[in-house]
This record gives sequence, structure tokens and C-alpha cells, in this order.
Amino acid sequence: MAEQWRGVVALAVAADSPLGRATDAVDVATAHLPPPNAHTQCTVCRDASWPCGPFDTAARGLAALGIPVGYLVPLDLHPVLWPPAAATADQPTLDLPGAPDG
Ligand SMILES: [Zn+2]
Repeated sequence: MAEQWRGVVALAVAADSPLGRATDAVDVATAHLPPPNAHTQCTVCRDASWPCGPFDTAARGLAALGIPVGYLVPLDLHPVLWPPAAATADQPTLDLPGAPDG
């Protein structure tokens, strides 16, 4: 039988730390992660694609508190949230040698 849930760990953090104040958002973001074998299917919102609404709301709440959601998302899901940009030869860059300073 395929894994339906990701493994989780419990951590102790100071209640008045930024992360300690975001426990509800951390819990929601973690609960709404896809299983290891279905990167675009929320485990809780079975009919919703991932990232689902509750995950998105939690991620925005974490961002508002200055907590990068990437620290709570397994690395195999990072390309789903942040698809790699296709590199093109004519893509402008900001670090060209000799480029004038703005
Ligand atoms: Zn969900």
C-alpha cells in the first residue's frame, strides 16, 4: 500500500518566538502536504490539487510573520511550489560584467 501521509516530527520552540506564534499556520501547512507519491494532490483536501487553499492561506500567514514556508515543505515538493525557470539565451541578467550601475 502506498504511503498516504508524510512522516512528521514534534519540535519544542519558545512560545513567544516567531515560529512559536505561528503554530496554527505550521500545523495547517504540514497537514495539507501531499503524500510522497502524489505531488499535486492534497492529503486532506482530496478533491483539490496542491497547493490547496488551506495550504496557501497558511503559507501566506507564515510569510507575513517572516517565516519562509520552504523550511516546512519537503524538498521533493519545492519544484511544485517554485517551478524552475526555463533558461533562455536572450534572458536578461542583472550581473553582466561591465553593466552600468543604475
Ligand atoms: Zn488541503
